[in-house]
Amino acid sequence: MTATSEKIMQPREWHNLPAQKVAQHLDANLETGLTSDEVVKRQERFGTNELKGKRGTSPVLRFLLQFNQPLLYILLIAGAIKALIGQWVNAGVIWGVTLINAIIGFIQESKAESAIAALASSVQTNATILRNGQKVQVPSMELVPGDLVLLTSGDKVPADLRLIKSRNLQVNESALTGESVATEKNTQPLNADTALAERLNMAYAGSFVTFGTGSGIVVAIGEATETGRISQLIEQGTSLKTPLTRKFDKFSRTLLYIILGIAALTFAVGLAYGNTWAEMFEAAVAFAVSAIPEGLPAVVTVTLAIGVSRMARRNAIVRKLPAVETLGGATVICSDKTGTLTENQMTVQAIYVGGEQYTATGTGYAPEGEILLDEQPIDWQNLPALAECLKAGLLCNDSYLEQKEGQWQVFGDPTEGALIAVADKVGLNRNNLEAQMPRLDVIPFESEFQYMATLHEDGSRENSSRVKTIYVKGSVEAILKRCQQMLNAEGNLTPVNAETIHQEVDVMANLGLRVLAFANKSVSHTQDSLDHADIEKDLVFLGLQGMIDPPRSEAIKAVEACQNAGIQVKMITGDHAVTARAIAQSMGFNKNGEVLAFTGNELAQMDQSELATAIEDGAVFARVAPEQKLRIVEALQAKGEVVAMTGDGVNDAPALKQADIGIAMGGAGTEVAKEASDMILTDDNFASIEAAVEEGRTVYRNLLKAIAFILPVNGGESMTILISVLFARELPILSLQVLWLNMVNSIAMTVPLAFEPKSERVMEQSPRSPREPLLSKSLVKRILTVSLFNWILIFGVFEWIRQTTGNIDLARTMAIQALVAGRIFYLLSISQLGMALVNTIRGVRQTFSDASAMGIGIATTIVLQIIFSQWNLMNSLFSTAPLNLNQWLICFLIGLPMIGVSIIVNRFDPLN
Ligand code: ADP
Ligand code: MG
Repeated sequence: MTATSEKIMQPREWHNLPAQKVAQHLDANLETGLTSDEVVKRQERFGTNELKGKRGTSPVLRFLLQFNQPLLYILLIAGAIKALIGQWVNAGVIWGVTLINAIIGFIQESKAESAIAALASSVQTNATILRNGQKVQVPSMELVPGDLVLLTSGDKVPADLRLIKSRNLQVNESALTGESVATEKNTQPLNADTALAERLNMAYAGSFVTFGTGSGIVVAIGEATETGRISQLIEQGTSLKTPLTRKFDKFSRTLLYIILGIAALTFAVGLAYGNTWAEMFEAAVAFAVSAIPEGLPAVVTVTLAIGVSRMARRNAIVRKLPAVETLGGATVICSDKTGTLTENQMTVQAIYVGGEQYTATGTGYAPEGEILLDEQPIDWQNLPALAECLKAGLLCNDSYLEQKEGQWQVFGDPTEGALIAVADKVGLNRNNLEAQMPRLDVIPFESEFQYMATLHEDGSRENSSRVKTIYVKGSVEAILKRCQQMLNAEGNLTPVNAETIHQEVDVMANLGLRVLAFANKSVSHTQDSLDHADIEKDLVFLGLQGMIDPPRSEAIKAVEACQNAGIQVKMITGDHAVTARAIAQSMGFNKNGEVLAFTGNELAQMDQSELATAIEDGAVFARVAPEQKLRIVEALQAKGEVVAMTGDGVNDAPALKQADIGIAMGGAGTEVAKEASDMILTDDNFASIEAAVEEGRTVYRNLLKAIAFILPVNGGESMTILISVLFARELPILSLQVLWLNMVNSIAMTVPLAFEPKSERVMEQSPRSPREPLLSKSLVKRILTVSLFNWILIFGVFEWIRQTTGNIDLARTMAIQALVAGRIFYLLSISQLGMALVNTIRGVRQTFSDASAMGIGIATTIVLQIIFSQWNLMNSLFSTAPLNLNQWLICFLIGLPMIGVSIIVNRFDPLN
């Protein structure tokens, strides 16, 4: 063990040591962070910064849990009774089928679970740290003890940190301490016996920075962190439960009681007719098995899992499974503007300084283009006010531009990138300026305050009473009210003319430009730090810069698609109302007339009923503070809407949680927002929300298809058995045969439904009503009709063949094969494959994406059915009889009328 690592291991009471001591212990440098070489060494020694977490339930237990279904109890018991009375073959078959069923269920469930878990963890957390003296972002996993982490509001604390700097730093530690109010942090050493919740100079892994900034040294990573030590208690593992699966569970339970009741009745009635116990046991089991839709739970799980992975392919990562189905029912989508509906590719086009309107040419962040006044290029050296406004944009700025593969790119905030680019166009350079006027302090931009401010040494003024300068940039509203004076074109102070400035803002905003205002203030040279109070008043207004942020072209299409699908789209933004409206209009938000825009202030002054109408009618909500987002969600929900809401900031978390589907931005979003969300967009793009809705609708559709497909077979079979018993006739299907139909045959035929591609018309229908029951009236009608047909088919074929041939095994086998033939036609009628076939016959061209699953399903079914009746082993196991070609043909022909039935039931409710 090296000296270093020994030292690193020692104290646990980091809060008791002064920051310098902590740094010494960890061999860390508080100015430059660790070197890359050192990091590699430490990574080898300490491993990665992640929680291994306890695996949820063990595989063995999960396998056994597959048998924890009422139906399977019945089967296991039935098998046992058969064994007791010496029918070993029967018992073996029952147990065998049950086992196969459990294995398939286990595999499908594990696959679904791990797919979902992998997706959720594919969203990695990053941390900003100092390494080799440079500020860099690395995956949190790569942190080592001694790393210097920089925190700002919205970050997730990536490891246990001893804080060394804190500026209004507030951390929410509820995950660790249960305390839901954020704690204000500082850096003072504390008594050794200070309780965890009171260690104000520590920030623990897993907590969230809700306000301010700070930095700290990593003192523990991974399992060694405080969270790591308690997380042994927290079970990891993904829940596959959703509101829909719960509805299913409830539905199956009710069904089971009914079935058990009827089975008991069957049993009693049969005995009364003078049948033997054994016969009646057979009948009761056959009835129970035939009535329960065994394949359904598996199909639900697979369908949801497929929905999740399809969404992931379209850049929407589902964090919470219920979102998959909720999305399909969304009626309103509230979306951020900047970066989600727009490109977030900002270019300054208009500048207003000292009463003059300048224009800027060029696009993107390259230093190509000019600033023009009356179409003439300008020289900033002669325009002191313009120079000051451009300088404010450069100095009050946390981003930078860099050329990568020949392309100029922004690192940081595109709004700020645009300010650097425009100054570059006239040769004003950030680095030179910063050398002259080094930054002493900063108040970072927060949507809440709508401004950012920096304090600078002022090397440009050579006189004895040196002053310092504050530069401020932000929204016009936030800046202008703090200014009494402004610079005129010559650079002299004059009283501010707010009215003219607001008019100018309107001109820019009407063009859809994002407008920023700039101001400065001179302060005494004794001032070293900056506080909100310092810029409350007496600022000098410098000018405006207006930047274009073009709408994303795919978002325009997506907005239209949503409108066609009966989903309202609302824009929620911190930006100016006029700008937001102009952009909304250019994106086609005005399909149903004028775009109504409201500001956060207007909303705040409304009473409950005014608010409700405004929120229902408005399409744009501008200058909205994050708390107001929550009100908007609640107002919409009160109207019965199913709301999807995007968010990226720390303060968006409550709104994201309240929304039916909270959507966080993968790129621009804070960790807090991601944690609160149901879904994350990897590309921050509105079009991906629309895609997710499409997939959500498809999932729901496919589940309905599965129900519509499975239940009629249960219906037909159970009606057959029930009636036979009641009329004291021979059973047309034996319990083992039912088992084959409901387990083997059903799985082969229904799993493909989970893979059904989306219908072309998926976004042409209006959203499903949240109050709609799982089994709607039309669906029940459909199920009953097809059940009736199935019953006639089974009963008819059985009686007919039995009477004509006297061969009861053959009669049963042909009834089953005819039923399966009908089933294939029915399956086709609700599938996209069937639609495509019909359209091809009609000569309508249709693009059809993926028929392979359905094709494989049907082919497998046919092969299995051939084995079922033609193989003599199966004959003896399932009491079937081989069919000749003629008989096969007859079964096929008897299945054909199902096409007619399908056409009728498709009128009730088209499932495609
Ligand atoms: P959105 O993301 O919805 O466009 P923001 O909350 O980011 O809204 O911005 C609101 C307003 O704050 C903008 O209209 C702009 O005037 C101002 N603003 C935006 N970004 C910055 C920044 N980096 N520095 C200063 N002011 C900004
Ligand atoms: Mg923003």
